[in-house]
Amino acid sequence: MTEKSIYEQAKVTDKPGEECGVFGMYDFDGSDVSGSIYYGLLALQHRGQESCGIAVSDTSGPKGKVLSVKDMGLVNEAFNPENLEKLKGDIGVGHVRYSTAGSSTRENAQPLVLNYVKGTLALAHNGNLVNAPELRRDLAYTGAIFQTTIDSEVIAYYIARERLNSKSAEEAVGRAMGKIKGAYSLVIMSPRKLIGARDPYGFRPLCIGKRDNAYILTSESCALDTLGATFVRDVLPGEIVTITPEKGIISDTSMCISREEHARCVFEYIYFARPDSYIDGVSVYHSRILAGKFLAMDSPVEADIVVGVPESGNCAAMGYALQSGIPYGTAFVKNAYIGRTFIKPKQKTRESSVQVKLNALKEVVNGKRVIMIDDSIVRGTTSDRIVHMLREAGAKEVHMRVSSPPFLWPCYFGTDVPAREQLIAYNRSVDVICKIIGADSLAYLRTERLDEMVNELGICKGCFTGKYPIDPPEEDIRGEFDK
Ligand code: SF4
Repeated sequence: MTEKSIYEQAKVTDKPGEECGVFGMYDFDGSDVSGSIYYGLLALQHRGQESCGIAVSDTSGPKGKVLSVKDMGLVNEAFNPENLEKLKGDIGVGHVRYSTAGSSTRENAQPLVLNYVKGTLALAHNGNLVNAPELRRDLAYTGAIFQTTIDSEVIAYYIARERLNSKSAEEAVGRAMGKIKGAYSLVIMSPRKLIGARDPYGFRPLCIGKRDNAYILTSESCALDTLGATFVRDVLPGEIVTITPEKGIISDTSMCISREEHARCVFEYIYFARPDSYIDGVSVYHSRILAGKFLAMDSPVEADIVVGVPESGNCAAMGYALQSGIPYGTAFVKNAYIGRTFIKPKQKTRESSVQVKLNALKEVVNGKRVIMIDDSIVRGTTSDRIVHMLREAGAKEVHMRVSSPPFLWPCYFGTDVPAREQLIAYNRSVDVICKIIGADSLAYLRTERLDEMVNELGICKGCFTGKYPIDPPEEDIRGEFDK
């Protein structure tokens, strides 16, 4: 099996693919940051397991000298004490990647490092642009030669190009933001500045932290806890923050749009983000507990025990139990050592792989009426196996509750939701899906509950409603540049 096919096999699960994680750090005291970026990336590993990288620079050294290491695989596979030791620098950016645009190859790993007339730029991107093909064509016609097939390179090119007519790197970032459309959280290292930017809709998270005299930018606040850093604040949707020793944090909000237009990816709260993260002031854990409570209110059923499908179904199961008064239990043991390189056999792979990953605890479910909570059903290829597993373990009834609405539409903003025809809920009623997965009853979270779940923050619900905050591209752009 080729390296590529191993990684692609690992993506075949019945969950929407995660996207990417970005991290940046600038230590004003001049200490090396690569070790801390490494631990930051470890904390963001759930956001992408295909490739990762760190690029650093020494702000007291020659301007434009950037050292970087990028590789396929997990953070602790790509890095070791020797290569981290060589990454000397007090400013740096890091990235963990899951490919939603561009294939899973070493060239497409980030951060991207770009040398141009004004110096060197290193960039880490989370999200997907909807106008990348047009922009890329425009750039190509004016002589740009691309090294990768990812849309992040389009952003890097535009920043480099705009820098020629801008007074500062952050001004160039702002000008580039005027051209790019879609979802992006960016962490950029210019020779003497750490810059963070979030698209005006706020699709993907980005926050600021501080430890001693060092500033941090990270996709999720859980990485700050790992480093013993304090949370400063979220980067606002549309904001550009520039971090320097002379001026601290400088904010440019000229690209911000009204709160009503904000469109954070609600799936960050439902599934992607770690439950110990806060995004825009809302606890991911709390939003999942609420989703479970809403399910209990809207779709009650008599039962003896509530269980979650690990890991992300657990919080919602707890919420369901709290609201309903039905005891919470642990019904599954998960094999924690399967990981990314799990290679499934070609035939019946999805069936057997579930059992390799999960096993039901007979002692917990035998003779019981079980409510089983999962965060989502995408293709429906694993739910039937899990329901069956509970029945084999002696469950008298299995009632499935899903802490998100049915997926009916694809995503163009950095989440790997497949085409409509592959979605089990497309053209099927809940009753039909219930029969397919073999449950006694099935209910999804009501779409109207999503706003309450995130304290009325502006959110995107496109994959549930088909109403996207930005018009989707006419062509399916995922993987566009590999064609
Ligand atoms: S379409 Fe769905 S997965 Fe994509 S950004 Fe919107 S809420 Fe998130």
